[in-house]
Amino acid sequence: MENRVYNFSAGPAVLPEEVLKDAQTDLMNYKGAGMSVLEMSHRSKTYDKIIVEAEADLRKLLNISDDYAVLFLQGGATLQFSMVPMNIMAPANKADYIITGSWAKKAAKEAKRVGTVNIAATSEEQNFNFIPKEYKFDPEASYVHFTSNNTIFGTQFRTEPEVGNVPLVCDTSSDMLHKFIDVNKYGLIYAGAQKNMGPAGCTLVIVKKSLLERIPDTTHTYLNYKTHVEKDSMYNTPPAFSVYVMGLVYKWLLNLGGLDVMEKMNEEKAAILYDYMDDSDGFYNATVANKEDRSLMNVTFRLPNEELDKAFIAQAAAKGFSGLKGHRSVGGCRASIYNAFPKQGVAALVEFMKEFKSKN
Ligand SMILES: *Cc1c(COP(=O)(O)O)cnc(C)c1O
Repeated sequence: MENRVYNFSAGPAVLPEEVLKDAQTDLMNYKGAGMSVLEMSHRSKTYDKIIVEAEADLRKLLNISDDYAVLFLQGGATLQFSMVPMNIMAPANKADYIITGSWAKKAAKEAKRVGTVNIAATSEEQNFNFIPKEYKFDPEASYVHFTSNNTIFGTQFRTEPEVGNVPLVCDTSSDMLHKFIDVNKYGLIYAGAQKNMGPAGCTLVIVKKSLLERIPDTTHTYLNYKTHVEKDSMYNTPPAFSVYVMGLVYKWLLNLGGLDVMEKMNEEKAAILYDYMDDSDGFYNATVANKEDRSLMNVTFRLPNEELDKAFIAQAAAKGFSGLKGHRSVGGCRASIYNAFPKQGVAALVEFMKEFKSKN
């Protein structure tokens, strides 16, 4: 495609070219409707088919049972920081939070407004450069919250923490659908679409229906999961175009062969980058302490000094490698290589890294 850069942005992020082309084809006239999805009533038959199919395809990808509701909401993952405790912290009004980064901290902050938060583990004392493996849970907690992938710090849980029968709640915003996960292990999963699933504007929530019984009657209508479950995400105007593009992404994943295939591709891509860095005689240094905690989605690294970081980012940008600047709280560089990021883009970046190293 003409003039497209390699887009390493952490979010909103790269989308599959096939999906963009499909959206482009349909833009002036969606499958004979005479209008685009941007313009059509969310109550129309045409749109109903789009949202129903998006949900069905997601259920196929993750093998989601009828015990779970799937919701397409607004307000970002950030609104879920509040909605989760407002809905399911009852009746004990206690919850466990595993703090592995800035997003987890923000989630815990909102939960504290609703009840008592127990920090079951934290990696803050090492600027979140590892995933804690031991937890001190509150036996009375209504749920355990964790962040599967830490977008800013470049760490990722390899498997879910063991929590027994307590519902597990997960913010999967930056690694949703990067591999198959067993939804049955979770009480609730939420993810903003704009990192690994689609454009900004939609937040996916998968919630175990039995948890809806806990929701206090005082919960505001719009902030109550039951409202959205009962109305199939159509209580008010849903983020219609985002859901449509997410649906295209789900079809793209199904056509690829599903999430096990996607996982292999993600492992291969990340290995190209990490293996080269580990082999670079200390020129490119992964910021994450333990290899097993390294994210497959957000690869964070530093050069020997800040001057070199800056020069690297600027020269890379000039060559069409966009968005490599690390988050301000970590510094250095970050290559976000989500599902839609092409393998040849990672290989091209490594070639550039070699060239930059030899000149500096
Ligand atoms: C980006 C991000 C968020 C915030 O998402 P919004 O949709 O902008 O509210 C929350 N959690 C994680 C892990 C993220 O990466």
